[in-house]
Amino acid sequence: MALTQPLSSSQQHPDHRPQADFLGSHAPDSGPIDFDVTIAGAGIVGLTLACALKDAGLKVGLIEAKPREAGLSQRRAYALTLMTERIFRGLGVWEQMLPQIAGFNQIRLAEADYGAIVHLRPEDLGAKSVKTGKLGYVGEHYVLVQTLLDQLKDAASVTWLCPAELIQADYQADAVTLTLATAGDTAKLQTVRTRLLVAADGSRSPIRTAAGIATHGWQYWQSCITAVIRPEKSHENIAREHFWESGPFATLPLPDNRCQIVLTAPHAKAQQMLEVSETEFLAELDRRYGGQLGKLELLSPRLLFPVQLMQSDRYTQSRLALVGDAAHCCHPVGGQGLNMGIRDVAALVQVITAAHQRGEDIGNRQVLKRYERWRKIENLTILGFTDLLDRIFSNHWMPLVMLRRLMLQVMRLARPVKFLALWLMTGVAGRHSNLAKAGKLNQIQ
Ligand SMILES: Cc1cc2nc3c(=O)[nH]c(=O)nc-3n(C[C@H](O)[C@H](O)[C@H](O)COP(=O)(O)OP(=O)(O)OC[C@H]3O[C@@H](n4cnc5c(N)ncnc54)[C@H](O)[C@@H]3O)c2cc1C
Repeated sequence: MALTQPLSSSQQHPDHRPQADFLGSHAPDSGPIDFDVTIAGAGIVGLTLACALKDAGLKVGLIEAKPREAGLSQRRAYALTLMTERIFRGLGVWEQMLPQIAGFNQIRLAEADYGAIVHLRPEDLGAKSVKTGKLGYVGEHYVLVQTLLDQLKDAASVTWLCPAELIQADYQADAVTLTLATAGDTAKLQTVRTRLLVAADGSRSPIRTAAGIATHGWQYWQSCITAVIRPEKSHENIAREHFWESGPFATLPLPDNRCQIVLTAPHAKAQQMLEVSETEFLAELDRRYGGQLGKLELLSPRLLFPVQLMQSDRYTQSRLALVGDAAHCCHPVGGQGLNMGIRDVAALVQVITAAHQRGEDIGNRQVLKRYERWRKIENLTILGFTDLLDRIFSNHWMPLVMLRRLMLQVMRLARPVKFLALWLMTGVAGRHSNLAKAGKLNQIQ
């Protein structure tokens, strides 16, 4: 299918415009470049995919609109699931990340104005997971990006095209022809031919839009504020999720007794929390902790994010696969979005490397549908679960209030319910990729 709709600059986030030189082994005007797989977007998901493909015997192109170093300055942190740990172990990047990330050995769930506190511990997930003594980890954006970049440093099979913005994709029967705008003093166009284009270009994915792939979902009535704080008392390596009527409030432990907070509130309230003075902001956090963490220090600017639920109608078409936020987005409660993207990567890599070894065409829709069948339902389950959590807990309608109190009580007392919740949220549910299985072996040795 020929597709000529350009990805115009107006569809791009302003930050995505190329700003500096064209890196990589090809000069921008050296004629078409041929790749087996071209990844558009070098966020954490795109970078992970490039690492996973670097020894697959495929020629890989990695296109990123922002300068390579941009990811190193982002002040964000993510909860990483046990399954992400296994996949990163399988990729050989975990040991390098580990000294710079924090693990948590307990999750504490509580309704803000109600006594029932649920403690989730590794043993609630069963004997096997107790070996690490962790239920998950928290990693900062720059740590993940730096480790993945280091892994790609000597990868001869991966060519960086950065900063370069993908502005057009023309789909033919046997390849996709991509037009990239690179910039410096004079803007230049570069042509790339690829057997498979992977869109890892984030939630607004211009590639998905131009390919005519519809999405389903909604914007939430809430926004999220993130910030890094340092409490006076130890965070004790506990991940806290407190449910307030206005929305969930997560506190994730980071190294050096720092915490990443993710505070969800209706848009107006969130905007107000962004604008109040530092003192007032910290006083509000302190009120929410009931003074339990002692004096609080704000270490980063407060960032505001809109929140949406989105599932793409399909994840693939001939010569195109969507991964990460380009394919789906969920509410941040439970910290699942990036983890789902990492599992997409592990599944896609397994499908296309197996196809490549069998001599199949890796851009063929039938091949790519194996990836879509694997991931779409699993992701939908998490989308549904996080939506349900947010709706049940961000509500003051009395029947729902009673229901959630009952749920917390049941969860507190019934081990199988704790197991089920952890099974889903640690990513252990669902089909395990070969990368994750390799990572699990490493973990046990
Ligand atoms: C408040 C908040 C808290 C969250 N907390 C967690 C958490 O704790 N755990 C978790 O797992 N998830 C969390 N998430 C979700 C997580 O942030 C996302 O799922 C994840 O960042 C998506 O990564 P990505 O690589 O798919 O997309 P992005 O990070 O958006 O990367 C896309 C990349 O594509 C590039 N790009 C775009 N268009 C083009 C183009 N045309 N040409 C070239 N390059 C292009 C962009 O420059 C960018 O670098 C949270 C989300 C929010 C909003």
